[in-house]
Amino acid sequence: MLEVKHLRFRYPGQEAAWEFHFSVLPGQCIAIRGASGSGKTTLLNLIAGFLQQESGTIQLSGRPLEQLEPWQRPITSVFQEHNLFEHLDVATNIGLGLHPGLKLTQDQRHLIDEGLLRSGLPGFGSPMPGDLSGGQRQRVALVRAILRRKPLLLLDEPMTGLDPEVKHNMRALLLEEKARGVTLVLASHDEEDRKILADHHWNL
Ligand code: ADP
Ligand code: MG
Repeated sequence: MLEVKHLRFRYPGQEAAWEFHFSVLPGQCIAIRGASGSGKTTLLNLIAGFLQQESGTIQLSGRPLEQLEPWQRPITSVFQEHNLFEHLDVATNIGLGLHPGLKLTQDQRHLIDEGLLRSGLPGFGSPMPGDLSGGQRQRVALVRAILRRKPLLLLDEPMTGLDPEVKHNMRALLLEEKARGVTLVLASHDEEDRKILADHHWNL
């Protein structure tokens, strides 16, 4: 279970601090709801370890995350942008999520192909990210995140710029992750996303 307890944070010079407090069971999704600028991305950055809280705790399955560096946390994040390495082709970008040294098994290579197929990008392993549209890049980032198989997936407006049909497919992939026991924290403006994916809501 993800437990965020009295997590306080403010940017330098900011008067009022945020205090985030909620918990989510394995296999469930909490949607973070709030206007632009309300702190959704800030919360995801705190959980991922890119920002340091003033006080409060974050635990996953009873294990505190505070002392762990971002790369040590059992978490995968999909940000609003800048998810891909521009100098590496699509398959390599996804493969790096599976093995940092790219020592991939035959099964993992197959998973990459299948992930691209299921996200509507069959055979898209060799293009460079710069040759893809914004929506295609976002799908590559989602496929990589899903294939990493971490217990906690942080999603920041993950469906922005996707066609309705692609959104449908990507939501189906995320529902499968939930069924597998992955916990999702979803920042999204999209009511449909929240309706389909979320079990709980946290209003900012
Ligand atoms: P959201 O994702 O809900 O749109 P953010 O978490 O990005 O909101 O931002 C919340 C607030 O914090 C905004 O008012 C924003 O201007 C401010 N903010 C975001 N990043 C920084 C930063 N690095 N330094 C200072 N203020 C920031
Ligand atoms: Mg944001």
